[in-house]
Amino acid sequence: MDQGGKLIVFSAPSGSGKTTIVRHLLQQPQLNLEFSVSAASRAPREHEKDGIDYYFMSLKEFKDHIKQGDFLEWEEVYRDNFYGTLKSEVDRIWAEGKNVIFDIDVVGGLRIKKKFPEQTLAVFVKPPSVDELKIRLKNRKTESEEKINMRIAKASIEMATAPQFDHIIVNDVLEKALQEAEELVAEHIAAPTTPKND
Ligand code: 5GP
Repeated sequence: MDQGGKLIVFSAPSGSGKTTIVRHLLQQPQLNLEFSVSAASRAPREHEKDGIDYYFMSLKEFKDHIKQGDFLEWEEVYRDNFYGTLKSEVDRIWAEGKNVIFDIDVVGGLRIKKKFPEQTLAVFVKPPSVDELKIRLKNRKTESEEKINMRIAKASIEMATAPQFDHIIVNDVLEKALQEAEELVAEHIAAPTTPKND
């Protein structure tokens, strides 16, 4: 892969509000960000569009991409639900002269940080509490009870990885979280880097 612009990773337990933060950042033209569309083997939700929210694919297609070494990182986030970042996606965004922003799980986020330590800003978004997370997931009404419980169980494990990130944003008051995120990203983008990757 070519050396490129900056990489901004937002990782968090499902339901912590990171997607709202990422969307807000994408609306700030001065940050020059473009969203890294991940590949996913799950079915699209009602409002989701292929190539915009995810590159939706079958489990077989996903596994073929793994075999071909097409992923920068990939993860079986939930059983039989694979998610991953295609190298071609990051190359595409860098070729446009933009910085890449990722909305991915904690393991994937930390992998990207490890591969591009200088270029990456890794931010962990923390929900105020696990109880609050449960309420948010229930209100979202996009997952079954079983899936919600699966996500809650995973959230506790994910919370333990927070100290490995460059920054932790507690998403208690959304307005404050958005402001903090904007400042962090602006600062990272303005900072010079000596890019190193493998
Ligand atoms: P959802 O099904 O709610 O869209 O996403 C489930 C989880 O998969 C979220 O934590 C999301 O951040 C994560 N995810 C999405 N794309 C990627 C990716 O490319 N790589 C990894 N490792 N996780 C991802």
